[in-house]
Amino acid sequence: MIYLDYQATTPVAPEVVTAMEPWISEKFANPHSPSRWGREAEAAIEVARKDVLKSVGLGGGSIAFTGNATEALNWALKGTVEKAPRGRNRIITVATEHAAVRDTCEWLAGQGADLTILPVRNDGILDLELLERELDERVLVVAVMLVNNEIGVLQPISEIAKMAHEAGALMLCDAVQALGRVDIAEGPDLVAVSAHKIHGPKGVGALWMRKGAEPAPFMHGGGQEQGLRSGTLSPALCVGFGAAAKLASERINKDYDHVLRLWAAATRALGPAWEINGSVRHRYFGNLNVRKEGVDGARLIADLRDIAFSLGSACASGSGRPSHVLKALGLDQRKARSSIRLGFGRYTSDDELIDACERISAAAYRQEKLKA
Ligand code: PLP
Repeated sequence: MIYLDYQATTPVAPEVVTAMEPWISEKFANPHSPSRWGREAEAAIEVARKDVLKSVGLGGGSIAFTGNATEALNWALKGTVEKAPRGRNRIITVATEHAAVRDTCEWLAGQGADLTILPVRNDGILDLELLERELDERVLVVAVMLVNNEIGVLQPISEIAKMAHEAGALMLCDAVQALGRVDIAEGPDLVAVSAHKIHGPKGVGALWMRKGAEPAPFMHGGGQEQGLRSGTLSPALCVGFGAAAKLASERINKDYDHVLRLWAAATRALGPAWEINGSVRHRYFGNLNVRKEGVDGARLIADLRDIAFSLGSACASGSGRPSHVLKALGLDQRKARSSIRLGFGRYTSDDELIDACERISAAAYRQEKLKA
């Protein structure tokens, strides 16, 4: 199989497997128990926490581990609303956010929050003038992702955070697709990340919190994670996240250069008939979302079962719903259906990517010929 679905999840790094192994087998102690073994597990979690903190790279702040980024984003939004000062009940977000943000915001709107969902330009980027017009003293939080999971474009999160702060609001950034791939720019107060997008294990995420911006507790119970997120932590998962984060910090430039080369090879192999969805300049280059007039993306996936690629987000692909992100770029249903996403990274070789792109192009050509 040629794996080109790096936005859905990434292969677990061998270094991560090695780091996790003892914590799944002989080192089974509860990290919150006072025994020597418990303290050893706790110490390993604290090393991992530092490595995740360092990989976020914002200096200061703290990390609370969560079950995944979806939990971190739910917590950040709901816990911020719970602590909202009187008179601040507006949430501003963007049409191209992941469902973990969008659906949580919609749920909060159902509970009485005043929600504004801003459109994006047709390159996928938020127009800051639109945001400026919406910001006022009633805004509590502005939630904008850094790297889009479907089309790879980058939002100007520093500027957005600065504008949010000027209005007295907090800024939440979903940096799930950014961690370890691009630098997370200064500005956000809350940042959600996930281990399995950076060659770590599934089942662990984290919320980075600037001091003073901590949301109200989300999970109640044993008081772990400074009372903010109760529940016994998994040393194996936390250690795996830490190892993946450390590796990502060490390799960020090398991985980025590799991805740039792969992007050039892939666009060359696909040829000029494929149009890129979203800004070509302001993007992470390990996400190539392209469309070709008249092609049926779902059929391409069915025809090429030994190449793992997708239509957009893993969730959107499963539901058969056209992508809300492509719709937000102004693409009609036909164009959205002719789009596919190729995601590649650290363990993708030039040869396999070129082979996959050539076979995708040939399969698209066969579709066209059958129609003619
Ligand atoms: N945000 C973005 C941008 C994502 O791509 C994903 C995963 O697809 C999530 C949030 C949710 O992450 P998790 O799988 O850790 O819940």
